[in-house]
Amino acid sequence: MQTEIPDYQKGSGCAVKTLLKGGTVVSGSKTAAADVLMKDGKILAVEQEIDEADAKIIDVSGRLLFPGFIDAHTHFDLHVAGTVTADDFQSGTKAAIAGGTTMIIDFATQYQGESLHEALNNWHKKADGNASCDYGFHLAISDWNHSVSEELDTIISEGVTSFKLYMTYDEMYMADKKIYQILKRLKEAGGIAGVHCENKGIIEALVEEEKAKGNYSVHAHKMSRPAAVEAEAAGRLLKIAQVADCPVIIVHLSSEAGYKEILYARERGQEVYVETCPQYLIFNEDVYDLPGFEGSKYVISPTIKKESDRQRLWELLKTDQIQTVSTDHCSFTLSQKAAGRDDFTKIPNGMPGVEARPALMYSFGVKKNGLTVEQMCRFLSENPAKLYGVYPQKGVIAPGSDADIVVWNPETRWTMSVGNQVAHVDYCPFEGISVEGKAELVFLKGRLAAENGKVLVEKTGSYVARNRHMELAQWN
Ligand SMILES: [Zn+2]
Repeated sequence: MQTEIPDYQKGSGCAVKTLLKGGTVVSGSKTAAADVLMKDGKILAVEQEIDEADAKIIDVSGRLLFPGFIDAHTHFDLHVAGTVTADDFQSGTKAAIAGGTTMIIDFATQYQGESLHEALNNWHKKADGNASCDYGFHLAISDWNHSVSEELDTIISEGVTSFKLYMTYDEMYMADKKIYQILKRLKEAGGIAGVHCENKGIIEALVEEEKAKGNYSVHAHKMSRPAAVEAEAAGRLLKIAQVADCPVIIVHLSSEAGYKEILYARERGQEVYVETCPQYLIFNEDVYDLPGFEGSKYVISPTIKKESDRQRLWELLKTDQIQTVSTDHCSFTLSQKAAGRDDFTKIPNGMPGVEARPALMYSFGVKKNGLTVEQMCRFLSENPAKLYGVYPQKGVIAPGSDADIVVWNPETRWTMSVGNQVAHVDYCPFEGISVEGKAELVFLKGRLAAENGKVLVEKTGSYVARNRHMELAQWN
């Protein structure tokens, strides 16, 4: 591509009109040849042919134009498992924008004894001024009580409209009674919860069994979290949601057994939104039997499941039974992972992905598994925008929307590697994987922020206050 990137675009201002000419604009419902005119951070016009004498023109012929991708599941600068994630907001959002993600939604986390506002303020301190893409926050609730319940209305009015509940992990565990109470209160206040579904008791018992047998390696991580662990918790959550009469989001779905519970709930008439992640679509449980300590790179929860689960997740995407694909980016360096070399339960759980997701989904989804580009747009951009209350400000290339645009080159072939990633972590879980397609130019509110995996402009991301979720019936 012989595009001349005008100097003004690389600086801080973007008041000059920019015209993206000759590309194919992708939405969740169609693709169409169209020119896109933007100014002052917004999209001014999307038309088949725009001639604007005073605009700077960028030739994007042969390229797909996606609305900036949204990753609704990241953990940056998170203190967990006695350490802190390798990526903070500075490196994490740079990795995001490098790959074509113009907005992330991170999990502000309430620790025991804190108010929700304390948690939210803590996350603003981590993020504000450091972000190279736009960002919002979910709030992970760990300490539910009367005063926290009272805070919900103001928290929601401040643009935090989604919440996270965990059914496992000692520090975050929420019992059934409280889950019910929270869901009911969220319904009244206009919020929605995303839930980590795993049965805490079964995991604890299986971990004890593995250790009693002398199994302390990565392989035991897989053995301690079979699909039924996810399915049991998902089924229980969905029945709690049924009694609370409340929609709910199941995050990072990893198994067919888990999906069956969702199907039953949908057949009962419940509104259930489902997220999965690239790692569950690309790998199977064999990663836990890699030689040496290699498998620690993939120690995440829920675990990566069987080959049949992986294939089923693709089918569920193809038929739009799953609504979003986000990453659960929660990165740790190899030396951090090494804390669990002699005991798998001490390996910090999580892996990077925020940078790789768009290219993985184009390459494995569109090119290899029969997803349409419109579906890719839905799963990575339009649906998260609707579910998390930022549509049509984000999630669509249309007049009035933020000029967050990814100029996608479908022809670029490249190989993922730690050597060419921006994320601040010393391994790439997708090392050596050849992919097709790349974010060639990434515009954040009209400003060229990244080009071919390199970040050009840092720290121009801003906080996005979100509205309540758009109900599924209004999505089309
Ligand atoms: Zn997570």
